[in-house]
Amino acid sequence: MRQRLCVLGSTGSVGSNTLDVAARHPDRFEVVALTGQQRVDELFAQCLRWRPRFAAMGVASAAAELRARVRQAGLLTEVLEGADALVQLASHPDVDTVMGAIVGAAGLPPCMAAARAGKRLLLANKEALVVGGAQFMAAVEEGGATLLPIDSEHSAIFQCLPEDRSQWKQRVDHIVLTASGGPFRQREPSTLTSVTPEEACAHPNWVMGRKISVDSATMMNKALEVIEARWLFDLTPEQIQVVIHPQSIIHSMVVCRDQSVLAQLGTPDMRVPIAYGLSFPERIESGAEALDFLSLGALTFEPPRRERFPGLFLAWDALRGPHGSTAVLNAANEEAVAAFLDRQIGFDAIHRINAQTLESLIPSLDLHAPVEALLELDRQSRERARTFVKALRR
Ligand code: NAD
Ligand code: MG
Repeated sequence: MRQRLCVLGSTGSVGSNTLDVAARHPDRFEVVALTGQQRVDELFAQCLRWRPRFAAMGVASAAAELRARVRQAGLLTEVLEGADALVQLASHPDVDTVMGAIVGAAGLPPCMAAARAGKRLLLANKEALVVGGAQFMAAVEEGGATLLPIDSEHSAIFQCLPEDRSQWKQRVDHIVLTASGGPFRQREPSTLTSVTPEEACAHPNWVMGRKISVDSATMMNKALEVIEARWLFDLTPEQIQVVIHPQSIIHSMVVCRDQSVLAQLGTPDMRVPIAYGLSFPERIESGAEALDFLSLGALTFEPPRRERFPGLFLAWDALRGPHGSTAVLNAANEEAVAAFLDRQIGFDAIHRINAQTLESLIPSLDLHAPVEALLELDRQSRERARTFVKALRR
């Protein structure tokens, strides 16, 4: 039987790459539900192409427009709206596999719902895990879901580990997450005040959504990935190392107890980890180009410097802080990045807002707190971060 897919965030970069891979294997995948926030043209085009049973838009006016266009085109797609619709679709009985490709903490409720409903959950939406932490992993466990990492680094680690998870603890000494260093790897830190959103979004190796592109430029993306790895692979903060590898060919590495190092390599193309998530434990064609070793040149490595990438180091601070600290950090960063993209604050203010929010808001969250409590902490943290945004506004 074909896998029935729900793609949350199908209009985004990871979402559309997911559909690209699925389109190569019509015998394996059927698209049941597609969702987007407000870009009607994109979601309508996807509805025409895939004829899903459901489509959902976060913004009600966008949903109304999509509904009218779908009807006019004679499609049978039912158009839903709002955040509740995402939860409903992610846990729908006629869905086998959910791709979580929403950006930000907004993806937490539907991803948690998919986990609880025991779906095969392909997780690109790292913020959901950074906010959800222990509770997210508990939902996966309780629901009997299969959690498959899509972030390229975490997919790499996952591919280097045995399928039998009970062997992970015994086998792993530590992991090495590679980072490209983003567009400002060689910039003088003092010149970063004048950086524009366009410069920050011009990533040297990957084409991605705007939020993750800014995160790559500050290396907050890697900070979120350190936290993500802590939960996905049940590691201590000390077991996670970050190394800058500008070519983005080695996607990450596992250092085993015996000091044998396993790495996963490939061209930088998100369709590889997506295809692996879709087909695990099998392998299918992804559409990615072959890696040509003879034209590669050198693979180089360097340490991430605190002067240039201070945000990265907040990951370990948050992981060692009280439960909920990683949710505070994520919320602050989402607000700071939005303010930067909106040209309200300078690029270097992002780190200051993140650090100030993390320092000033000490969460007291129960380890088993429900998702509502996490969302409330997220809301409070955003409010706090916005006071710092105001103070730094130019
Ligand atoms: P994107 O901005 O291109 O797409 C985001 C998607 O989420 C869109 O479909 C948008 O409509 C939807 N969305 C936005 N806000 C929403 C909200 N409030 N409620 C519901 N839906 C909403 O982002 P992207 O680059 O595809 O990244 C998606 C996620 O995957 C992020 O968490 C990112 O960190 C992660 N990721 C992306 C890449 C990449 O190569 N793009 C790589 C690794 C991980
Ligand atoms: Mg990544």
